Amino acid sequence: MSINKTLVFGHINPDTDSIMSSLVMANLENQLGNEAKAVRLGNINKETEYVLNYLNMSAPELVSDVADGQNVILVDHNEKTQTAQNIENAVVKKVIDHHTMNFVAPYQLYYRAEPVGCTATVLYKMYKEYDVPITKNIALMMLSAIVSDTLLFKSPTTTQEDRPIAEKLAKIAEVDLTTYGTALLKAGTDLSDYTPAQVINIDSKLFEKGGKKFKIAQINTADIDGVFKDKVYFEAAINDEIKKENLDLYVFAATDILNSNSKIISLGNDSGIVEKAYGVTLDNNTALLENVVSRKKQMLPKILENLD
Ligand code: MG
Ligand code: MG
Ligand code: MG
Repeated sequence: MSINKTLVFGHINPDTDSIMSSLVMANLENQLGNEAKAVRLGNINKETEYVLNYLNMSAPELVSDVADGQNVILVDHNEKTQTAQNIENAVVKKVIDHHTMNFVAPYQLYYRAEPVGCTATVLYKMYKEYDVPITKNIALMMLSAIVSDTLLFKSPTTTQEDRPIAEKLAKIAEVDLTTYGTALLKAGTDLSDYTPAQVINIDSKLFEKGGKKFKIAQINTADIDGVFKDKVYFEAAINDEIKKENLDLYVFAATDILNSNSKIISLGNDSGIVEKAYGVTLDNNTALLENVVSRKKQMLPKILENLD
């Protein structure tokens, strides 16, 4: 792949925001005369597949690493543990994100992170600032990302900016926001094609703090009990990964998108940390976290606070 064409990608184990924002950002760059191409760092999940099918589009090309000197734009992430291999030898031209910042580069770049619910919310504002038209398809991509990241505005990560922008996008995309959004989220709860090892990796993120390595994985469901019928298989898969990757903690969360709760499995030497972090008692490695749906805003910060 040419290193002159800038590659745009989201995080590994990509979610709908990572895929859609890559496509939307690549389009913005191209409209501004900068050659760019969206790629992805992992498998497409069922929710994202729903959007791609809706638009009759194929997924961006899969890559795992980047060439030395490759120009890249990161969307929906900034941390080294969540990006392409060899990133340290690439040239990060831009970062467009909405996560905690854990990024340094020994050169100047365009870095834009806003405390909003979705990368696509930031991209919507950039389209407006650059006066680049938002087509029907681009609108649906942005809308899908916002619905996904905010769980149709039920997540506490939702800000005042996300919903009005989503409403405008739904008009451009010519869809009913609630009908389309509900169908999209529901598509993401289908686990029928996955093995337990795949389920825990649909949306898992690796974090590091003070020599500790831990993962938080999350899936969406409308049937927590149904998911937990396979608990022993998930535990086996999680314990495998803990061993393989030398993790201190692995938290797997099944998030009930209808009732806005999450049930977790916590394993690893530091598994007990979740009791203090979330004020719960583990029962057979599991606990129900009431009113907790967001990894970014609710699950991760409490673990970081309690890790030492
Ligand atoms: Mg994401
Ligand atoms: Mg996001
Ligand atoms: Mg997410």
